[in-house]
Amino acid sequence: LFVGDLLSEGAQIVIEGAQAHYLGKVMRVTPGDAVVACDDRTGEWACEVLSAGKRDVVLAVRRQLRPREDVPDFVLCAALLKKPNFDLVLEKATELGVAAIRPLVTRRCVADKLNPERAHSIVSEAAEQCARTALPRIEPVAKLEALLRDWPQERTLFFADEQGGEPAVAAFAANPGPAALLVGPEGGFDEEERALVRAHPSARAITLGPRILRAETACISAIGVWMATAGDWS
Ligand code: SAM
Repeated sequence: LFVGDLLSEGAQIVIEGAQAHYLGKVMRVTPGDAVVACDDRTGEWACEVLSAGKRDVVLAVRRQLRPREDVPDFVLCAALLKKPNFDLVLEKATELGVAAIRPLVTRRCVADKLNPERAHSIVSEAAEQCARTALPRIEPVAKLEALLRDWPQERTLFFADEQGGEPAVAAFAANPGPAALLVGPEGGFDEEERALVRAHPSARAITLGPRILRAETACISAIGVWMATAGDWS
C-alpha cells in the first residue's frame, strides 16, 4: 500500500478514500491484522490495523521491512498515447523498473494531456503489485523540442526509430551509464522531428527489429532489453 504520509516506527497513519475502501471492503481488514505500507521516501514497513471504519482505516507502524530501493537510472521519454495505451505504458514501465517517466507531446500526438493523480495511482498500484519500494517520478508533460533543448549531455538518449538504427542490445551494451529511451506516438515522429532527434549529440538511434511495433510494445520491449543488458541491481 503506497501512502502519502512519511512512515516511522510507532507512528499512526489514517488511510482514507479508495485505499480505505480497498482495505475495509475488499481485503476486509479488522483490528490486529497485518498490512504492509510504503511511503516512497523511507521504504516498506510492517503495520498493524488499529481500527477499520466506514470512512477510514487507522494503522500503527510497527517496524521497517525494507529501505527504499535504488532503481537503475533509466528514464522513459514517451509520446502521449490514447489513454488506455498510455496507462499500459505507465504500468509496465513501473514493473520493469524505470526511474522516471517523461510524457511528451509531439506533432502527431492525438493526446496532449496527462492527469497527474490518475498517473500516480496507476504507478502506485503497479509498484504495489511488483513489490517496488520506490515509485517512478512522473515529470510534467513537455514538448519534444523542450526535452532536447535541456537534455543533459552525459545521459544517452536511445531513440527508438522504426526506420532503423543500431540493434538495441549492442547499443545498450556499448553505452553504459545513465540513459533514457525515446519513443514516438501512434503515428510516429515526423521527418523534421526525426532529423532533430538524430542530430542531437546525446541521441543514438536504435532498432527493435524489422517490424513496426505499436508505441506501447516499443516502450515495453526496449525497457525490458535495457534492464536485462544494462540495468544495475547491485
Ligand atoms: N511512423 C510509423 C507509422 O505510422 O507507420 C509507426 C510509428 S510506431 C507505431 C510508434 C513508435 O514506436 C515509433 O515512433 C518508434 O519510436 C517506435 N517503434 C516502432 N517500431 C519500432 C522498431 N522496429 N524499432 C524501433 N522503434 C520502433
